[in-house]
Amino acid sequence: MRRKLIAGNWKMHNTLAEARALMKGIRERFDGSWPVDVAVCPPFTLLYPMGKEIDGTPIKLGAQNCHYEPQGAFTGEISPPMLKAAGCAYVIIGHSERRHGFGETRELLRRKVAAALSAGLEVIYCLGETLEERRAARTQNVVSRQLDEAIHADLDSAKLVLAYEPVWAIGTGQQATPEQAQEVHAYLRGRLASIFDSRRAAGLRILYGGSVKAGNADGLLRCPDVDGALVGGACLDAAEFAAIISAAAAVSA
Ligand code: PEP
Repeated sequence: MRRKLIAGNWKMHNTLAEARALMKGIRERFDGSWPVDVAVCPPFTLLYPMGKEIDGTPIKLGAQNCHYEPQGAFTGEISPPMLKAAGCAYVIIGHSERRHGFGETRELLRRKVAAALSAGLEVIYCLGETLEERRAARTQNVVSRQLDEAIHADLDSAKLVLAYEPVWAIGTGQQATPEQAQEVHAYLRGRLASIFDSRRAAGLRILYGGSVKAGNADGLLRCPDVDGALVGGACLDAAEFAAIISAAAAVSA
């Protein structure tokens, strides 16, 4: 049985004061006994103080990106061991905003995934097609290629999480239907079985991301191969984020 994971990607939002208020709101609404894993992924500057905010709760900390080297002359970058030391359990790699907005290449992503796993972080590896690719019926080809770019049999699958995030659904308010999500998730699980084996593939969590809100979470989270959500906009609102977590808990009960 895969335990559902709800991860909030704060992107480039929140000052320290705003972040503290958001975490207070989440803590007030979140019942730590709910059978669901929760992570918040704030910007780098907020990792350490948010680690203090979640101290004593089951909520875990994640980062939104990392470099592949442990240290060195890489101005402006943050390494996996630095994230680990700052209290991170997770790191998001390959988000479409990094692939498309910052030109992250397959070689870069492959190295980042391997380095983050070696540092003991759990990697949330994002993949997903553009609207043009979906319309051209190339969704499976695209996610398959993105999977092969960075994921291979030598990696520790126990520390790997996939996030299927159709680019056309991110920040648009137009989420994939549960049927669309389930179809791609089931396809990805089959591909994972050919990379690892069916036992490891069956244990690996595949999150859905793209305009998840309290109002649509239940249908998505009930899909058999949807093991949680990577939440952008809605995670900046404590009540919305807590309601998504609560929906995951209800589906898992
Ligand atoms: C994301 O950025 O990972 C995301 C899914 O954003 P949103 O929920 O706003 O679509």
